[in-house]
Amino acid sequence: MKLDINSIIKTIGASVSFEISDRLEVLDSGIGTVTFTGPVAVKGTATCFNRMIEVKGEAQVRYRTFCDRCGEALERHLTVPFDEKIIERAEEDQDTSMEDDDLFTYTGHYIDLGRIAANAILLNLPMQHLCGEDCGGLCPTCGKKLNGSDCGCEDSQVIDPRLESLKGYFKNN
Ligand SMILES: [Zn+2]
Ligand SMILES: [Zn+2]
Repeated sequence: MKLDINSIIKTIGASVSFEISDRLEVLDSGIGTVTFTGPVAVKGTATCFNRMIEVKGEAQVRYRTFCDRCGEALERHLTVPFDEKIIERAEEDQDTSMEDDDLFTYTGHYIDLGRIAANAILLNLPMQHLCGEDCGGLCPTCGKKLNGSDCGCEDSQVIDPRLESLKGYFKNN
């Protein structure tokens, strides 16, 4: 997902807007239980400063995951902003491979929007996923989802651990 900045690279203050949608290989394997579905869409503006390009915009992606409490399959849509300063890296430095260090540098007249987008997505991916704020997980007895609904297992409610130990006490004595 490359952005050609040739038209702005010589003029401080010049900017170019972009709107690109593409698959990002780096996201193909997913993260944990998150599987990215469909392409990543980026839109924004690149502005030229002195040997530095400011890239502002947002990235959007869809993904599948599961509720952390009840395991229900979820489809989510994530929109994350980015605002990065991409510094020009001299041609002679190109051979030294700095896979991570060169994340926010450019050489020639292309900026790799894919790396910027992937970085923003991975940094902003929620750590927790719930099908709803009130998800009560699954009933330990019947396995039904407990979202305020009564599954009919009242008799086997989880026993207060303090009572549980008392029960053992009486049994053993
Ligand atoms: Zn749930
Ligand atoms: Zn139940």
